[in-house]
Amino acid sequence: MTQAIDTQLIHAGEDHRIEGAIRMPIFQTAMFEHDDAPLRYVRYNNTPNQKVLNRKLAILEGAEEALVTGSGMAAISGAILATLKPGEHLLAQNSLYGGTFKFVRTLLTDLGVKVSFFDADAPNTWDELLQSNTRAIYVESITNPLVQVCDLEKIVEFAQANKLTSLIDNTFATPFNYRAAEAGFDLSLHSATKYLNGHSDIVAGVIIGVGDHVRKAGKNLVHLGGALDPHACYLLHRGIQTFALRMRQHNATASALAKFLDSHDKVEHVYYPGLASHPQHQRATRLFQGFSGMLSLELKGGLAATEKLIEQLQIPVFAPSLGGVESLMTRPAISSHAGLTPQEREIAGIRDFLLRISVGIEDAQDLITDFQSALIQIHNDHTSS
Ligand code: PLP
Repeated sequence: MTQAIDTQLIHAGEDHRIEGAIRMPIFQTAMFEHDDAPLRYVRYNNTPNQKVLNRKLAILEGAEEALVTGSGMAAISGAILATLKPGEHLLAQNSLYGGTFKFVRTLLTDLGVKVSFFDADAPNTWDELLQSNTRAIYVESITNPLVQVCDLEKIVEFAQANKLTSLIDNTFATPFNYRAAEAGFDLSLHSATKYLNGHSDIVAGVIIGVGDHVRKAGKNLVHLGGALDPHACYLLHRGIQTFALRMRQHNATASALAKFLDSHDKVEHVYYPGLASHPQHQRATRLFQGFSGMLSLELKGGLAATEKLIEQLQIPVFAPSLGGVESLMTRPAISSHAGLTPQEREIAGIRDFLLRISVGIEDAQDLITDFQSALIQIHNDHTSS
C-alpha cells in the first residue's frame, strides 16, 4: 500500500530505533570503528543520520535512491560534474537560479564542458541545439525568480528520445507539489536549505533519482566534499516531518496574497503560476499539486516605490533565501542574481526593482493587511511630493 506523503514524512526510512529511541539520536562523530561493514565516515555519506534521510528522501519522490549534501549547490554541482565530462555538451534552461547559472557559465565551462542555453518553452527550437556530444539537459521546475513553468513532460520525452540525462532543480515546486523523479527526470536536485527543512537554520541539499545516477554523483562527492554534517542532518530530519503541513499553508497563503497583489492598482505585474493570468497557469495546474510559496512583483513606481514598500512592510523580513516558515523578501538583482552582469539580468528579464517574496506560513489575512497598509503609504508619498 502506498502511503500518503504526510505518513511517509514521519515514518518512511525509520526502520530501526536505536536503543528504542523515538528520535534518531545525533551521531556527533566523524568516523566509526572498523568492522565488517564498509568504512563509515561523514564525507562518505553513510552514517546513521545521513542514511535515514537518504531513505526518506528517495521515497518522497518515488525514486530509487537519494543523497543528502552539504548545500543545494553541492547537490547541483556534484550531479552536473558526475554527468558531463570535458568535451561533452549540456543543454541548460536560459533562466536559472543565479548560482547555478554562474557555475555553469564559469567553472563548468572552464573544465571544458560545452553549454548551450535554451528556451525551455519553445520545444520546436530544441532539436537544432543537439550536438553529437550532447549528454544532458537541465531545467528548473519553477524558475527563480520569474516562476516560469516550462513543458516538463516534453523535456522528459526529449531527453529519453535523445538519450540525454535529465536533471531538474525542484527546489521551488518541491516534492509536495511535483514528484520530479517519478515524472521521469533522472536526477531531481534540491536546496534543502529552503522548503524541505523549512526553518531557515541550516544549509543543505539533496540529490534524488535513478540509482546509477545518484551513486555516480555520490562517488564524485566523496572527492569534492560537500557532505551534510550530523547535526545539520538532525535538524533537516526534524524539519522535514512537517514539510507537507507547511507546503499546504505556503500554497494557500501565497495564492491569497498573489490574488490580492494582482488586483492592486499600484502593482504593475505579479508573477505567480497560480494566477489565471500567468502564461503557464494551465500547465502548472495540470502538473502540480499546488503552486508553492514563491511570487515576484513589480510596482508601477519602480525602484523608489519598491524600496518604500520594503521599508514599510512589517511582516516579511528583507533577506535572501526562501522556503522558511517566515515570509522573506529580496530583490534578486542584489541577492540570488547579483552574480550576473546587468546585461545578463536584462536578458533574463530580471529588472532591478523586481521584488521576490517567499511567502511564509503566517496568517494570509495578516500578510494582505500588511501589504495593503504599506502600499497605501507609497500612494501618500507620491501624492504629497
Ligand atoms: N536552487 C535554487 C532554486 C535556489 O534558489 C538556491 C538558493 O537560493 C539554490 C539552488 C542553492 O541552494 P544552497 O544555497 O542551499 O546551496
